[in-house]
Amino acid sequence: MTTVQAKTFESLNPATDEVVGTYPIHSEDEVRAAVAAARPAAEWWAGLGFAGRLERLERWKGVLTRRAQQLAQVVHDETGKPHGDAMLEIILAIDHTAWAARNARKVLGPKRRSSGLLMANQASSVEYQPLGVVGVIGPWNYPVFTPMGSIAYALAAGNAVVFKPSEYTPGVGRWLADSFAEVIPDHPVFQVVTGFGATGAALCRSGVAKIAFTGSPATGRKIMAACADTLTPVLIEAGGKDALLVDADADLDAAAEAAIWGGMSNAGQTCTGVERVYVHERVYDAFVAKASEIAGSLKVGFEGDAQVGPITMPGQIDIIRRHIADALARGGRAVVGGPVAEGDKYVQPTVLVDVPEDAPAVREETFGPTITVTRVRDMDEAIAKANATDYGLGGTVFARARGMELARRLRAGMVAVNSVISFAGVPSLPFGGVGESGFGRIHGPEGLREFARAKAITRQRFRAPLTMTTFARTPKVDAQVAKLITLLHGKRR
Ligand code: NAD
Repeated sequence: MTTVQAKTFESLNPATDEVVGTYPIHSEDEVRAAVAAARPAAEWWAGLGFAGRLERLERWKGVLTRRAQQLAQVVHDETGKPHGDAMLEIILAIDHTAWAARNARKVLGPKRRSSGLLMANQASSVEYQPLGVVGVIGPWNYPVFTPMGSIAYALAAGNAVVFKPSEYTPGVGRWLADSFAEVIPDHPVFQVVTGFGATGAALCRSGVAKIAFTGSPATGRKIMAACADTLTPVLIEAGGKDALLVDADADLDAAAEAAIWGGMSNAGQTCTGVERVYVHERVYDAFVAKASEIAGSLKVGFEGDAQVGPITMPGQIDIIRRHIADALARGGRAVVGGPVAEGDKYVQPTVLVDVPEDAPAVREETFGPTITVTRVRDMDEAIAKANATDYGLGGTVFARARGMELARRLRAGMVAVNSVISFAGVPSLPFGGVGESGFGRIHGPEGLREFARAKAITRQRFRAPLTMTTFARTPKVDAQVAKLITLLHGKRR
């Protein structure tokens, strides 16, 4: 950035309130300058072709891998999540980067398409070209894994990227861009702009070719509105209220373990975290006992072997407190955990039962280490209840006989059967939601294509006897074409 920085903000450690770093609040002009600088860089990067980009992305992947511990420390300091959890998201992001780089040519490179009978004289092909400069706006809860699902795929597809990390994790964003610049020092192919919502909004208005946003549905709406002015396309990865279903024949130990890890790891601040559990009545009591035992054994804290860290965003505690208090007021019970006191930075793992389906704890994203567990008559009721939400991000099914059937019936973008959140770790699978959880897909071939434009090309191989695209076309040709189309498509069934 060339402009003088007028204002800065501090990134704080949520456990200790210590200042982790000070970062500029980039203005509208500075964001525009970053995007302008990215344009020639995008051309240079696209011009390298798949092989040139693969070689450089592989080198970046090497830097990320060798320095993962250092990055994990920044994530730990800015989010408060346990070091091991920080490493997990970094490892997954590295694996995704490798997959995107290695598969870009196969997914996006030129491919022949059938020309059909009417256009048999044409050689038809499609190829996916880069968009140009892509804007990525990220959240704080998985500050590496989540934005890298867009950044790595956009880069592999041949775009330059301007990234606006969350105001809670600017240091992570800065670290990622600096590590990329070690590999490519001379071209601003991957830049970071820091600041609050206004900086993100400026990126939406900056003339980027696409915005890839991950965050809350409320901000997603603002992003779409800002992008509407310039017809800038958007990809929205928003929140979730994911359900885990337990059938009567499920492995209960595995289901309980998955429900608690899925619901409480990262202190429950996971977009595809388990928030609701629906259990077949035949195994309900046994499931609640097992899940409660695991939840009750978790170690909460910031240092050492803590498994559940602080709530990263201070305002989120109020939402979690409200959801738990409301659930208890409506007749729900906390089998483990309970009310959250004012001023707490931590939420004890909380298992709620007997919570009515219309309670906020069941309907709204809680984003804390809490789950509701609900008894159901059968799996039809479980599916109906799980699907009765405006969200539709991920889902989980524990069942022996009917796992795949139930997975298909869940209204969600991704489902794991007999494990939890595994889909996020499979780079070849698309990731994204329906409804309030957003639209578009990151990861996999679909994720690469999100950051590219399909280009169709026909190359005429010879002049056809029945040429239609000419004023020299005769009535005889028209009649012959009509006859041909009747032969092809006019059969009565
Ligand atoms: P948020 O919506 O508050 O902020 C996300 C980003 O948007 C931040 O960088 C923020 O500065 C920026 N922003 C805020 N206002 C803006 C505006 N008007 N214009 C442009 N940018 C703006 O979300 P958060 O609290 O950072 O993240 C938590 C949410 O993200 C949860 O709902 C969670 O479920 C969701 N999430 C979804 C996924 C997914 O893949 N679907 C992954 C992680 C998190």
